[in-house]
Amino acid sequence: MSYTKSVIESVKKRYSNQPEFCQTVEEVLSSLEKCVDSHPEYEKNALLERIVEPERTFTFKVVWQSDDGRYHVNTGYRCQFNGAIGPYKGGLRFQKNVNLSIIKFLGFEQIFKNSLTGLPMGGAKGGSDFDPEGKSDAEIMRFCQSFMDALYRYIGPDTDIPAGDMGVGSREIGYLFGEYRRLKGNFENGAFTGKDYSYGGSLIRPEATGYGAVYYLQNVLKDCGDDIKGKRIACSGFGNVTWGVCKKAAQLGAKVVTLSSVNGYVYDKDGVATDEKLQFILDLRKKGSVDIEKYAEKFGAEYHPGEKPWSDKNIDIVMPSAVQNDVNLESAKKIAANKIKYYIEVANMPTTNDALAYLRNTDGIIVAPSKAVNAGGVATSGIEMSQNSERLSWTAEEVDKHLHGIMNNIYNNSKDAAERYGLGYDLVAGANIAGFERVADAMIRQGIF
Ligand code: GLU
Repeated sequence: MSYTKSVIESVKKRYSNQPEFCQTVEEVLSSLEKCVDSHPEYEKNALLERIVEPERTFTFKVVWQSDDGRYHVNTGYRCQFNGAIGPYKGGLRFQKNVNLSIIKFLGFEQIFKNSLTGLPMGGAKGGSDFDPEGKSDAEIMRFCQSFMDALYRYIGPDTDIPAGDMGVGSREIGYLFGEYRRLKGNFENGAFTGKDYSYGGSLIRPEATGYGAVYYLQNVLKDCGDDIKGKRIACSGFGNVTWGVCKKAAQLGAKVVTLSSVNGYVYDKDGVATDEKLQFILDLRKKGSVDIEKYAEKFGAEYHPGEKPWSDKNIDIVMPSAVQNDVNLESAKKIAANKIKYYIEVANMPTTNDALAYLRNTDGIIVAPSKAVNAGGVATSGIEMSQNSERLSWTAEEVDKHLHGIMNNIYNNSKDAAERYGLGYDLVAGANIAGFERVADAMIRQGIF
């Protein structure tokens, strides 16, 4: 058995109770096989065994009081996965299904994603099994304060910099930072990203993940001699990331025609392109609603209850942008049967491993991996950190230009990495290799620990 396979097997055996983590380790490490085989120093330094083990993972108790006076207890998590190339960096997810496996899978992905940006950021992730749905603003605030009471000792601008993820937006970051500032007695706003502009957030950060995804897509289309103009894009979800994709696609003459929730999907033939529509999805999300049917009612779009957008015949590009494992083998077969040419992952690990393998092996479909496509979010967090340490703020144009350049580099570096190992045009393997090589070099140079 090869070195790479033996590490995958050992992770699957030791962490059999962490399915999402095992899934991402298998996906990433399988892509690295050729690269690892041609670098005997990786095996000599036990690099794979070391990279699959978080440097530090901890859980903590979060007690908070609801408006009716009752007390509730949740579990908080932070996984500081790898700090070889910079301070730990990654979002916080507040969602009722959060568990150690999900936090570790996200933290592991974050190592490679952050490395791909070329910025000095290690990989981390955290969150809680707190369910924000239906909570009042005061409840959210009390939860965030209690969460930060436990976490504040372990983060900081040169240590670990949390940001948002599902269930954590600029409101939550505000409450988290407020408590951090109170506890530390200073104004260390570089300890968080995704802040509101009023206290050191970056312009374009809210849009960045979606914008970056579309910039990446443009690179793919250009290399295929194709153009984004007139393209119909199927997105899932209707959160912040999807919103950014809708906005940038509309600016470039394409349209996002589908949005979805757990209940079904809407098809809007005119695209989610007007300011009114974009604001509507933001408002719906703010209310904590999953009722995407309301969009269809308001704007006269089709509603398909209980279905996913992937089988729709009237789409050119698929961009799953909601949750992990949203596209399974059955959906992948429908995408292939519909002759969709571009499968661009946006959410973290939106495709099951069997579906991803199927799509990658189907002729005529180009598959782009989320760790590269959605890296614009964290890249812009890196830009926010630079602005905080420089004590100044960049214009929207400057941030957008920088983000665009980073996305072009990510695409080109991924393409080159795959070619270097004789893998052809393989954006999935290329992203894993390019992200890995930088971290591996840093780990080797810093010695065994
Ligand atoms: N949660 C986002 C991601 O998956 C953003 C992380 C960050 O900005 O630190 O990349």
